[in-house]
Amino acid sequence: MAASLRLLGAASGLRYWSRRLRPAAGSFAAVCSRSMASKTPVGFIGLGNMGNPMAKNLMKHGYPLIIYDVFPDACKEFQDAGEQVVSSPADVAEKADRIITMLPTSINAIEAYSGANGILKKVKKGSLLIDSSTIDPAVSKELAKEVEKMGAVFMDAPVSGGVGAARSGNLTFMVGGVEDEFAAAQELLGCMGSNVVYCGAVGTGQAAKICNNMLLAISMIGTAETMNLGIRLGLDPKLLAKILNMSSGRCWSSDTYNPVPGVMDGVPSANNYQGGFGTTLMAKDLGLAQDSATSTKTPILLGSLAHQIYRMMCAKGYSKKDFSSVFQFLREEETF
Ligand code: NAD
Repeated sequence: MAASLRLLGAASGLRYWSRRLRPAAGSFAAVCSRSMASKTPVGFIGLGNMGNPMAKNLMKHGYPLIIYDVFPDACKEFQDAGEQVVSSPADVAEKADRIITMLPTSINAIEAYSGANGILKKVKKGSLLIDSSTIDPAVSKELAKEVEKMGAVFMDAPVSGGVGAARSGNLTFMVGGVEDEFAAAQELLGCMGSNVVYCGAVGTGQAAKICNNMLLAISMIGTAETMNLGIRLGLDPKLLAKILNMSSGRCWSSDTYNPVPGVMDGVPSANNYQGGFGTTLMAKDLGLAQDSATSTKTPILLGSLAHQIYRMMCAKGYSKKDFSSVFQFLREEETF
C-alpha cells in the first residue's frame, strides 16, 4: 500500500521547524501566543463514528472547526452548529494550520493527504497534521516524509477506547513523531482523551495501536466463546459475566463491552450490534498486524486466526456490525 505513495527516496535533511518559531516558554508573548492559538480554527477531516464525537469535544473546548468529510451528511450537524464546512481536504489546509484526520483506512488517509485535492496541495508551512486513523505504520512514515517536505509536521496519533470514550473525552492517544512537537499535539489531543502517550518516532503510535487491537480481537473472540459455552452449560449469562469479572478471566471485552445481548446496557450487543467498532475495521487492523508480523518475522498464531475469523464474518454479512457480533457469528456457526 505504501508503494502507492510517491516514495520520496532518502529522508530529507530538513528538520521539523514549525514550533521552533515559538517564543520562549514562560514569556508574556508565549502566553499570549498560546492563548490566541487556542482560538484559531482546527481542521477536522472524517466525521464518522469516532470523528463526530471527537470534533464535538474540540468544540466544547472552544476551538472553531473547519470541517470536511466525503460523505456530506456527516458534516450537517456541524454546519447547523455554526462550524465551517469546506469542500476538500486542501480547503481545510488553506484555512487551518492544525488539522486532525480520522479516516477508516490507509487508502483513505493517502487520498486525504496526497490526493488531487489533498491536504498537501495547500498545507501551510509550520502546520501540525495529526492523523488519528488506524493505518499501516509504513504509510504514516511515508506521509510524514511528504509533509516534512512541505515544511509542516506530521504525527500519528491513533486512539483506543471506542465510541463511548470518544463521546466522554476519555480516549487513549498513542502518539508517534518528533518529540519536540508532542506538547503542541497534546494541547488538542488532551481535549479528546484522558491519556495521551508519546510512543517514539513517527509510526510507533500505529505500532502500539495495532498490538492493542490484535489483543482486543483475541480477547473478544475468547470472551464470546467462553460466554457461549457457559450458556450451553446452563449458566445465566449475567451471572457468568459477573463471575468472570471478579475472576482471572476478566478483561475489557467481558467487563466493559460484553458481547452477549442482555448482559450490559449501553454497549453494541444491547443494540443489535449497531454503532461501535465495525467488524470491517477490526478485520483491517488484524490485516495490519498480519503484515507487521510478516515483515518482522514474528509468530502471531492467535492473531492470524482472529484475522481469519473476522474476514469470514465480513464475508457472511457482519461487516457493518460491531466487532462484538462475533458472539452472534459463533451462535450461527454452531451446527458444524
Ligand atoms: P467511520 O467509517 O465511522 O468514519 C470515517 C469517516 O471518514 C466517514 O464519515 C467517511 O465518510 C470519512 N471519509 C472516508 N474517506 C474520506 C476521505 N478521503 N476524506 C474525508 N473523509 C473521508 O470510521 P470510525 O469508526 O470513525 O473509525 C475511524 C478510524 O478510527 C479507523 O481507522 C478505525 O480503525 C479507528 N478506530 C475506530 C474505533 C471505533 O470504535 N469505531 C476505535 C478506535 C479506533
